[in-house]
Amino acid sequence: MSHTAASLRAQFPLLAATPELHYLDSAATAQIHRTVLDAVLHHETTSRANVLRGTYRLAEAADLAYEQARQTAARFLNAGSADEIVFTSGATAALNLVSHAFGATLQPGDRVLISVAEHHSNFVPWQMLRDRCGIELTLIPVSADGRLDLERLADLMGSRCRFIAVTQCSNVTGAWTDVAAIVAAAREAGARVLLDGAQAVQHGPQDVQALGGDFYAFSGHKCFGPGGVGVLWGRAEALTQMPPFLGGGGMIAEVTPEASTWAAPPQRFEAGTPPIAQAVGLAAALEWMMTLDWTVIRAREDALCKRLIEGLARIPSLHLLGPQNGERAPIVSFDIPGLHPHDICQVLDAQSLALRGGHHCAQPLLAAFGVEACTRASIALYNDEADIEALLGGLDCARRELS
Ligand code: PMP
Repeated sequence: MSHTAASLRAQFPLLAATPELHYLDSAATAQIHRTVLDAVLHHETTSRANVLRGTYRLAEAADLAYEQARQTAARFLNAGSADEIVFTSGATAALNLVSHAFGATLQPGDRVLISVAEHHSNFVPWQMLRDRCGIELTLIPVSADGRLDLERLADLMGSRCRFIAVTQCSNVTGAWTDVAAIVAAAREAGARVLLDGAQAVQHGPQDVQALGGDFYAFSGHKCFGPGGVGVLWGRAEALTQMPPFLGGGGMIAEVTPEASTWAAPPQRFEAGTPPIAQAVGLAAALEWMMTLDWTVIRAREDALCKRLIEGLARIPSLHLLGPQNGERAPIVSFDIPGLHPHDICQVLDAQSLALRGGHHCAQPLLAAFGVEACTRASIALYNDEADIEALLGGLDCARRELS
């Protein structure tokens, strides 16, 4: 199978229809693969029914499709079993689920660690938990290049750390977290670990058992799948120990007028009608991803990222937020003093360059860098040299027009 950017790009209907578009915002939402649209259409036109409720053949077909999607997600993550996969509406919903459900097992004074580099969706729910339940919320700082500074991790954990929730990869800097060090420290303290994998999944299948945490969250729209669906993986015994978050149909063992008891995971955490067709579409995206040679794709992504960073380094006064080199995801954010990112992105848009400018839902991280907003280019498997050259040319133009 060909892995050239052109042959991959041709498999994405929107990109195929807009050859002039330089799409460099895949960290926000990746483009949707053709196979996903086919799978959703097929499901909706052959197997549409609610799940876990009907006994007629159509409902059984829907059940089968949905449970097969769960198995695909389990294979993509190398989970211990499909019962460890909870479908949610996205990473944000998965993170809120854990902050509520695990949060309900915490006592006032227990400590939760997150990092300064978290996306707001792994920041705000824990602040809300702190305000609701009186837990202590402690922040892992970042070093000058945006990597999590783990030097004082043991001190930060103290004696009552019960949970560490960190991003696997920053959506602003592309910095990968040293997950092994965090998991080792957490294991020693008997604390659980959640990884926000929202930015990692776009760069290849993951192995939650090798990573070693207890929970893993991601969204379908960031890995070439549909919006409105995401995955929470939880280690079986970790899921079993948690009470439900949302109540409703499908998550109970029994309801009497007085009280209810809960179904086993994953149903315990899937109240109401789940995103069925979206899960089927996501499974198609994950199946496709599992057929790719990620060594080839990562090598290209890394080369494009390196070329972009070299080009940016020639722009006077430009400040790169994040690692200059070393292992990093191809997410490149920068600040050009005097030029507002919104203005930069508007000039770039006129040249069919789609980039995001703003705080990227990471205000604490941007504050640590001393900026309010920045411009971000994120590179995915369908990008090529022409996208990078167009961006560097577009930035020259933006500097001329806006200075
Ligand atoms: N975490 C990270 C690191 C992200 O980049 C994002 C999306 N920008 C999220 C969580 C939230 O994902 P969603 O909006 O799909 O729920």
